[in-house]
Amino acid sequence: MANICVYPGTFDPITNGHFDIIKRGSKLFDKVYVVISINSNKTTLFTPEERKQMIEEVVAGFDNIEVLVSDELTVDIAKELGASTLLRGLRAITDFEYELQIASANRQLEEEIETVFMMTKAEYSFLSSSIVKEIASYGRGIKSFVSPCVEKRLRDKLKNK
Ligand code: ADP
Repeated sequence: MANICVYPGTFDPITNGHFDIIKRGSKLFDKVYVVISINSNKTTLFTPEERKQMIEEVVAGFDNIEVLVSDELTVDIAKELGASTLLRGLRAITDFEYELQIASANRQLEEEIETVFMMTKAEYSFLSSSIVKEIASYGRGIKSFVSPCVEKRLRDKLKNK
C-alpha cells in the first residue's frame, strides 16, 4: 500500500522552511499532498490560487508532490486522498502547544490518521510567512527566506496594495 501524507497549512506564502519540510517528506513518503487549507478565521495576503501557483513553482521537478486547495477538515481531505499521515513542522517550543492541540483534535476525529512532526533545520527555526511579509513590507530583501518566484510575487503584491 502506498505511503501517502498530507502536509496542511496556510502557506501565505510558502517559505524555505516549508519547502525543506516538503522535500524531506518527499523522501519518506511515496506521495506528499501539500494542502492549502482555507480557513475563514485567517486573513491572508495571497488568494488560495496564488498560494497554490507559488508552491507549484517551488516544487516543480518533484514528481511525488501535488498541491491542492481545500475547504474541508484536514482529516476528511486526508481520508479522501488515501493518506494515513498528516505531516507538520516544528520550529520552537511555542509551536508545540498549538500543534499538540490540533494533533489531539485530529486523533479524536480520526483515530487511524497519525500526525508526524519534523523538526525544522536550525537556519529556518525563526522563519514564518508572517516574518517574511513583515520584512518585505519595509522594503528589505527576503532572498534568503523564500524562492525567487515567491520574492517577486510578494514584491508585486505589496506594490499593488
Ligand atoms: P498553519 O497556519 O497551519 O500553522 P503554516 O503555513 O504557517 O500553517 O505552516 C504549516 C506547517 O509548516 C506547520 O506545521 C508549521 O509549524 C510548519 N512550518 C512553518 N514554518 C516552518 C519552518 N520555518 N520550519 C519548519 N516548519 C515550519
